Formats: sequence, C-alpha cells, structure tokens
Amino acid sequence: MSRVSQADERWRRKPQYVAEECYSYYRGKKTRAIRFNIVGPHQEEDAERILKGLVCSNCMEPFPAKPGPDTLQLFIDANIFYPQPNWHDLVRRSRCPLCGDEVSYEYANLLFEGTLPTPNWED
Ligand SMILES: [Zn+2]
Repeated sequence: MSRVSQADERWRRKPQYVAEECYSYYRGKKTRAIRFNIVGPHQEEDAERILKGLVCSNCMEPFPAKPGPDTLQLFIDANIFYPQPNWHDLVRRSRCPLCGDEVSYEYANLLFEGTLPTPNWED
C-alpha cells in the first residue's frame, strides 16, 4: 500500500477512548449513561471528527463522510460490512449505519457540551 492511499484511508481509524459510566438524577429518577473520553495521540483530531459527524458519538464507528442522502455512495464505495440489512436507509436518514443512532451536529454538540469548546459550524 502506498503512502497516498494510506492517507486516504485515515478516516477508517477508530478513535481511542475510555468509556465511563455516569449516573445523574433527573426529577428524582436515577439515569445511567456512558460517557466517552477520547484519549491517545489523535485525541484532538478524533474529538473534531465526532463533532463533524465523521465518527458516531454513540458507538465510535468512523465514517467516510457525515451520513446523509448525499454521502450514501461513499459508504457503499468504502465497502464496509454493516450487520443491519437496512443500513442504506439509516445513512440516508443521517443515522449511524452501525448502531442506528442519530448523527447530527446538534446532537454531537450536546454530548460534548461543557467538555469541548463550541465548534464553529461552517460546512
Ligand atoms: Zn453508531
């Protein structure tokens, strides 16, 4: 594999993270959540990828592009195996083809609120 094609395949790298179990109380009810702390040498780049919708903020699956009707072809071309039979549909609806969770700037922003500076959405 040449250097150029390796560079092109960089999006396939999974973020390194530590999952942390969190509990919070809302109106007297205890809720449980998993929080991902991005770690490792690519920490900043990986956090940026999540905020750009290039990595699922729920299951940390990397994408060739932000899921949407306009990028479905890139997912097909990337030749990745997703177990869900309806994954084309998930990508078209801007959802993660692996876990089905919503991939949106607003959602990623909400998850990272308080831990990262507010990103500047321009694209
Ligand atoms: Zn996912």
